[in-house]
Amino acid sequence: YQSNTSPNPSAGSHSAISPAAAPGERMNATFVTLARNSDVWEISRSIRQVEDRFNRGYHYDWVFLNDADFDDTFKKVTTALTSGKARYGKIDKEHWGFPDFIDQDKAARVREDMHNRKIIYGDSISYRHMCRYESGFFFRHPLLLEYEWYWRVEPSIELFCDIAYDPFKFMADHKKKYSFVLSLYEYVETIPTLWDSVKSFMRKYPQHVTDGNSMEWLSDDGGETYNHCHFWSNFEIGNLNWLRSQAYIDYFDHLDREGGFFYERWGDAPVHSIAAGLMLKKEEIHFFEDIAYYHVPFTHCPTEEKKRLDLKCHCNPNDNFDWNGYSCTARFYDLQKMSKPNGFEKQM
Ligand code: GDP
Ligand code: MN
Repeated sequence: YQSNTSPNPSAGSHSAISPAAAPGERMNATFVTLARNSDVWEISRSIRQVEDRFNRGYHYDWVFLNDADFDDTFKKVTTALTSGKARYGKIDKEHWGFPDFIDQDKAARVREDMHNRKIIYGDSISYRHMCRYESGFFFRHPLLLEYEWYWRVEPSIELFCDIAYDPFKFMADHKKKYSFVLSLYEYVETIPTLWDSVKSFMRKYPQHVTDGNSMEWLSDDGGETYNHCHFWSNFEIGNLNWLRSQAYIDYFDHLDREGGFFYERWGDAPVHSIAAGLMLKKEEIHFFEDIAYYHVPFTHCPTEEKKRLDLKCHCNPNDNFDWNGYSCTARFYDLQKMSKPNGFEKQM
């Protein structure tokens, strides 16, 4: 009789085996998650996948932010799952709430109206605080001030492929500032006047609009109207110093004053995307084709079979959203003059 399992010296031990660290330098980077205590089991699934597919070899820190205090269960479970240092921050009341220039009655009427029109999260106050926080404040949280790079992770996401290199280092080495895995058209009802506010920003601060930007990706008529393309911000790897730059702060303050976070339901995805599209050079935005990802209801799965096999992916290529008519990723390839992966036509 020959056993087909190799002898395991640690069999019987209950202590966790710490995977060998990947060689090479580390970036000044962290994962960042905004969550409620009730999200603990959903964020646990996300953490486990990020650790298994990447961070078990790198041990980057993980910052958790909440408008309330994290409870002991949340801290215990997430600390156990993360291989780097887990850190917990409470959000300043100033950054999570109505600014004094917002007319409360008007904001309440909008929520009522959006409720009647069945607009997703249209009646929610907390969702609006969340979108405003992700748009303008997370990167200035005292815990985030210590880092240069962030990777945003939400509850209940999936990562379907091994990540064979350090995406933070990739961003740094290739002078990238912002990245995405899924893009799509925004639901117009949530942002009817956002582009008007963007245009008044561009008039007021022409110095912040960069030559060689991605305006073509955002607008089909040279900036007159918005085509609603945006990067899906539940996944982001980006540069915190860019978000903390005067240009971005002027942009956020301008939009904030316009009131659309409360008088409409502006999402942080179009807000970040338009900023990246106008204020970065187009080469500074990266599409991580090899990071396979799911957040309900969309999947990004690498188009080419060889890549899926090499990276031990478990996504169904038929679920890949990239070449669907509601995705803006083909437009991104055109903007960047990149050639599309083999087989993309079969997924259109
Ligand atoms: P969706 O992806 O647009 O459907 O929105 P989510 O419900 O996933 O919320 C986006 C992110 O913000 C997730 O990481 C949530 O855990 C977090 N989040 C949403 N609302 C709140 C809130 O009221 N408080 C806190 N602390 N986190 C929130
Ligand atoms: Mn989500």
